[in-house]
Amino acid sequence: MQEKIETIRARIAAAAAASGRAAEQITLVAVSKTVGTEEVRVAASLGIHDFGENRPQELKYKGEILPQLNWHMIGRLQTNKVKDVVGRAVLIHSLDRWNLAEEMNRRAQNSEVHQDVLLQVNIAGEEQKTGIEPGDVEAFLDAMGQLESLHIRGLMTIAPLVTDPEEARPIFRELYHIQEKVRARGFAHVNLQYLSMGMSQDFQVAIEEGANLVRIGSAIFH
Ligand SMILES: *Cc1c(COP(=O)(O)O)cnc(C)c1O
Repeated sequence: MQEKIETIRARIAAAAAASGRAAEQITLVAVSKTVGTEEVRVAASLGIHDFGENRPQELKYKGEILPQLNWHMIGRLQTNKVKDVVGRAVLIHSLDRWNLAEEMNRRAQNSEVHQDVLLQVNIAGEEQKTGIEPGDVEAFLDAMGQLESLHIRGLMTIAPLVTDPEEARPIFRELYHIQEKVRARGFAHVNLQYLSMGMSQDFQVAIEEGANLVRIGSAIFH
């Protein structure tokens, strides 16, 4: 695993340099959804502090065993599972619909916490992928001002699986442009700090297009 992580770090540094940034500005989230806590411990011993899970029960379980690590929720979230994630996840990447936002806000309010979230945007427009339509992002973020226990920290997208990562570049570029447009609006309650995009197949291209949070699973653990 050490060699894999070193290779990924070198590739992150190269892509960051290509976009005029330092490697330290990019956060690596190791997606541990397919492995157990022993592998997570090994990755943690190699300097990774952020881990991503796509199932609430798994995030809760691993988070209780390894509470010193940062746990990110990256998968689609059902409203009845929100209670397992709010207040546990350092960041929820997968806010993709209004009723989920309302439920997260209600749970956060009840627990007297503020929950950091990313808005998931469906750039690729694929049926099976969830997320807010690009044209609806600004109105959605505007309305989020009512939900005072949620803090919008950025945007997330999942690119389609393609054979050549270059094919994903326009997707990443579009999310970057949406980020810039929203920033120009200057919503007081929105602080777009994170751009979560890029996985094992395409993280270098994503970083070149502005990602500062990459979610990498198989390239680390398999
Ligand atoms: C599984 C998953 C990843 C990691 O995918 P790899 O191809 O294994 O790097 C990233 N993001 C999301 C939302 C995932 O579900």
